[in-house]
Amino acid sequence: MHYHIWTIGCQMNEADSQRVAAGLERLGYQPAPRAEEADIVILNTCVVRQQPEDKAVGRLNQLKRWKQERPEGILALMGCMVGVKDTARLQQRFPWVDLLLPPSDPSALWAALAARGDLDEAQTLIADAESRRLALGRTDTVLPASEEGQAVSAYIPVVLGCSHACTYCVIPYRRGAERSRPPEAILAEAIQLVAQGVKEITLLGQIVDRYGYDLLDFAGAQEPPLVTLLRRMHEIKGLQRLRFLTSHPNWMRDDLLRAVVELPKVCEHIEVPIQAGDDDILAQMRRGYTSDDYRQLVARIRELIPSVSIATDIIVGFPGETEAQFQRTYDLLEELRLDKAHIARYSARPLTVATRTLEDGLPYEEKERRRRVLDKLQSRIVQELNAPYLDQIVDVLVEGEKKGRWFGRTRTDRLVFFTAEGDWRGRMAQVRILWAGPWSLVGEPALSDCD
Ligand code: SAH
Repeated sequence: MHYHIWTIGCQMNEADSQRVAAGLERLGYQPAPRAEEADIVILNTCVVRQQPEDKAVGRLNQLKRWKQERPEGILALMGCMVGVKDTARLQQRFPWVDLLLPPSDPSALWAALAARGDLDEAQTLIADAESRRLALGRTDTVLPASEEGQAVSAYIPVVLGCSHACTYCVIPYRRGAERSRPPEAILAEAIQLVAQGVKEITLLGQIVDRYGYDLLDFAGAQEPPLVTLLRRMHEIKGLQRLRFLTSHPNWMRDDLLRAVVELPKVCEHIEVPIQAGDDDILAQMRRGYTSDDYRQLVARIRELIPSVSIATDIIVGFPGETEAQFQRTYDLLEELRLDKAHIARYSARPLTVATRTLEDGLPYEEKERRRRVLDKLQSRIVQELNAPYLDQIVDVLVEGEKKGRWFGRTRTDRLVFFTAEGDWRGRMAQVRILWAGPWSLVGEPALSDCD
């Protein structure tokens, strides 16, 4: 029996898909590269913007035939397209879908497999246990057997959902209210991942710095719960690197920044979206800070973590964004010289405050023009930031091989390629940089004294 998972969207979706794959492999299913060869097909979807939603709908329409030809096959739709409520309309729209699985919650899949009698007694017990653990915020297996010894870097969701009402964002409607996972569950997963060969773990949350404030475990704690969690994870032998994302400017605290410096495994890499550089737009987005607050935050992060790399997210073409307001985003990005910027065109999402109260007035072409203008600026900035890496030696945790070249990342999340004999996967390579572009660095292994 085979399964095929198609995933689009954020790291949280990738983590969710990996967990489903792990559960299926524990039940004896094998991965299939194409839906045509699979008995179970899962589409893990994203609706943060129209584009990924359209792709998922396209894929779903293609799979209508698949289902017609395999009445026994299971077609499951998962993730933000499903959301945490109102699934009846979705079922009506796509009647050929067998199962609707909310984000991070595949329990209906385990229940369906057990009910179909596909599983023997032992497997049914495994499936039941998986569902019950899920209900407690735990997962039994994280990494699929087929990825053991292959995956070097893995994600662990630590905060599910989101309760911050940014006016443009559909995530709170789709992933439900914010809730933190218990620290023991996270630590158990991390230990298991490391035992399976993982060397780097990235903790995930929509506002990851809010981790734990809703848990009794941390009641009365002096330091932010995320710091306590990082300290505890830092103890795990064999784990080499830790990262966390995404941060919200209002929840970023000095003690978290200090922990990045204090704990050697925690990488100097902060993802903290600004979304816009104009204060009126920021207010309409209800982000809760001004451009100047953000400017000061960047200065503070750089003061406390001198070698830090900072990534941001930006939305262009928010309803009513004027040329002058867009220019303020441009100017701020130029001034701050951040290490990465994910730039998105505004996409009106159902139910959101922005969609209900503001007209999505800018034509697509204008949004796309603004996106390109920022993209060009940012690639110039990153090119300038990367140039000094030439001839320097950087530590690269090697994640794998692509087209005959090894690749991995620096502590500051820079992608590095190099060519070398032997198996480098999972190793910490010292790479001398020979070429520096805006999106990656290319080098060769540096010979150390002991070589
Ligand atoms: N929780 C994080 C990330 C949310 S989703 C945060 O609040 O910053 C990732 C990114 O998608 C966001 O940072 C934002 O830049 C973008 N995004 C969210 N909703 C969007 C929308 N309606 N249109 C365009 N981009 C959007």
